[in-house]
Amino acid sequence: SSDDEGGEEYLFKVVIIGDSAVGKSNLLSRYARNEFNPHSKATIGVEFQTQSMEIDGKEVKAQIWDTAGQERFRAVTSAYYRGAVGALIVYDITRRTTFDNVGRWLDELKTHSDTTVARMLVGNKCDLESIRDVSTEEGKSLAETEELFFMETSALDSTNVKKAFEIVIREIYNNVS
Ligand code: GDP
Ligand code: MG
Repeated sequence: SSDDEGGEEYLFKVVIIGDSAVGKSNLLSRYARNEFNPHSKATIGVEFQTQSMEIDGKEVKAQIWDTAGQERFRAVTSAYYRGAVGALIVYDITRRTTFDNVGRWLDELKTHSDTTVARMLVGNKCDLESIRDVSTEEGKSLAETEELFFMETSALDSTNVKKAFEIVIREIYNNVS
């Protein structure tokens, strides 16, 4: 505790979910380390990165979890979701199947959470406009129906990456304070 400094501490768990190869790991590495890897491979073991931001003069930390590739086998475990108060549900705007599967990811998230979860629908790879397969309107519309925040991002050129994470973290903060 940091009572002696007159402040409170905030640490929130955020999970990133969505089909394989939509760019989950690169969104996290872009946000946490400003890095992009064009040849990223699935890592072994569950990984998270901790990132801080300031809200109302308070330090708010987010522990952001990335899957280790188990989503390929639809085998993301309950341990992954446990305690999550925020989620980014990611699809690839160039692959419609990844958008069609968003509903399944939302169901899985709901099954595993027992609290309010701040949720952001993320259409990633918006730098690939020429081979877009899911329109911005479709993304917006799904987000409205499911009551999610919505943003199109590019982990490659950094568009909206910081914004997407920070909106979720801010919403969590609003939910708990
Ligand atoms: P994950 O399986 O969801 O974690 O996806 P990765 O982060 O491993 O990315 C899968 C592939 O998509 C890799 O080849 C990345 O370089 C590429 N990728 C990820 N994000 C973007 C993006 O915003 N734009 C483009 N053009 N490629 C991306
Ligand atoms: Mg990954």
